[in-house]
Amino acid sequence: MRRRALIGNWKMHKTADEAGTYIREFLPLIQNIASVDVILAPPFTSLHVVAALVKDTSIGLAGQDVHWDSQGALTGEVSPAMLYDSGCQSVIIGHSERRQMFHEDDNAVNRKVKAAIAHHLTAIMCVGETREERANGKTSDVLTRQLLAGLAGIDAIDDTQLVLAYEPIWAIGSGTPATPTQANEVHAELREHLGTLFTTAIAKSIRIVYGGSITTENIQALLATPHVDGGLVGGACLDPSNFARIVSSAAN
Ligand code: PEP
Repeated sequence: MRRRALIGNWKMHKTADEAGTYIREFLPLIQNIASVDVILAPPFTSLHVVAALVKDTSIGLAGQDVHWDSQGALTGEVSPAMLYDSGCQSVIIGHSERRQMFHEDDNAVNRKVKAAIAHHLTAIMCVGETREERANGKTSDVLTRQLLAGLAGIDAIDDTQLVLAYEPIWAIGSGTPATPTQANEVHAELREHLGTLFTTAIAKSIRIVYGGSITTENIQALLATPHVDGGLVGGACLDPSNFARIVSSAAN
């Protein structure tokens, strides 16, 4: 049985002070929830503050991006070891905002996934199609390409090393989430590919979370489907009480 995971991606929001305020408000609200893995992905500048505050809790910490090299003349980049050292257990890789605005291609995603795993970080690898690709019947092709390219050259993997996030780009920040049926269909297909790439048992164990306009209203229906194992939440995680409500809905 796969444990549900809810990942809150703060994106470029909150100073270190604001991050501290968030965590102090959030912790008491979710302290009795043990059945869901909660992971927060603050900006790099707040990782230390959040790490210190969640240290003795079950909340996990994720980076929002990572470079594949261990060190070097790479202004503005952060290495896997730096994330690990800052208290992260995982890192979001290949978010559509990185792919679209920062021209990150499948090859870069693949290098990042491999580097994260090599440094004991769980790679939360995002895939997703545009509105146009879906309208043109290309969803399956696009997602298959992103999945195979992102995991190219990886012969063995387990559920501690990879979480897949299906994030249809048209659903992100749009207020129009995928329907539970749409999400489940895609997740089932992604899981089938994982089975072909690795083994059926591995495919069954790897969590595939959905992201795109998740709210307190739609989380339960999404999670009621067999292949949706959690959520990657953007806008709705920025308010601690709102995110806590999503977490408790997922726990019920
Ligand atoms: C995201 O950007 O990963 C995301 C899911 O955003 P939102 O929840 O705001 O749609």
